[in-house]
Amino acid sequence: MSAKIRILNIPFDAITEAEAIEKIRHRLGGESGDLALITTPNPEMLLEAQNNPAFRDILNNTWMSIPDGIGILWAGRFAQESEGRSYLGKIFTALRTLAELVVSPKKSRSVFPQRLSGVDLMQKIVELSQSSGERIFLLGAAEGVAEKAGEKLLEQFPKAKIVGYHAGSPADEDYLSILRKIRETEPEILFVAYGAPAQEEWLNRHRGELTGVRLAMGVGGSFDFIAGTKRRAPLWMRLLGLEWAFRLAQEPTRYKRIWNAVVRFPLAVLRSF
Ligand code: UDP
Repeated sequence: MSAKIRILNIPFDAITEAEAIEKIRHRLGGESGDLALITTPNPEMLLEAQNNPAFRDILNNTWMSIPDGIGILWAGRFAQESEGRSYLGKIFTALRTLAELVVSPKKSRSVFPQRLSGVDLMQKIVELSQSSGERIFLLGAAEGVAEKAGEKLLEQFPKAKIVGYHAGSPADEDYLSILRKIRETEPEILFVAYGAPAQEEWLNRHRGELTGVRLAMGVGGSFDFIAGTKRRAPLWMRLLGLEWAFRLAQEPTRYKRIWNAVVRFPLAVLRSF
């Protein structure tokens, strides 16, 4: 159904939100009892994967990989447009495709049909679970945040079955108590909010022991956004691909991460093609 696009050696599904949900519905309704891992690589995660082979392996062996961030959409388009060009031509193409993000958003979506943020997909999965009936467990974030996010999700999706919460941490000493809670509550869907790469590494390390979990996804700061402990960018900023700028204004301590996403990532992509 969807083509795989590779950026900095990480595969992505060129897929719309509706197609992603359809694929998830099909998987949950199917026979496979294996855990399907969904990853949502953003520019920072791709840079991390350059120097972290274990994380790179995880991102390469995931069931679904969605482009979380306007930077990924740009990189996909740049790869397509710069093929066969000289080095100078590539620099020109990089600048043109970056400008197109603002002046011609439609063109920017010629490779990836849309940006698919982890928090949006997570909510769509919760919505879907209302009819398919899977139990959901929310793992991670600061004390009380997962519960608050759960309350908000239930206000929106009252038929969802949110069966467990646990703040905890990805540290090994917390693992047994987490596993006990997960085994008691028997979720089929597990969302993990430890931030990348800790959440993906945790899921990969323990996937064999998470009996019954059929779909899992690292969701970063999503519980904070849903609970309202962090504010999300207004819709117009998201549509313009400026969510990163909003987060920088909200959390100036993220400046290093934003620098990586906005400056180091495009340079790495430029060098890679
Ligand atoms: N977190 C956690 N335990 C840890 C480290 C992080 O629960 O040991 C949580 C943190 O509270 C936050 C999430 O992980 O809810 C990471 O959010 P961040 O904004 O860094 O993720 P992003 O959305 O940028 O991927």
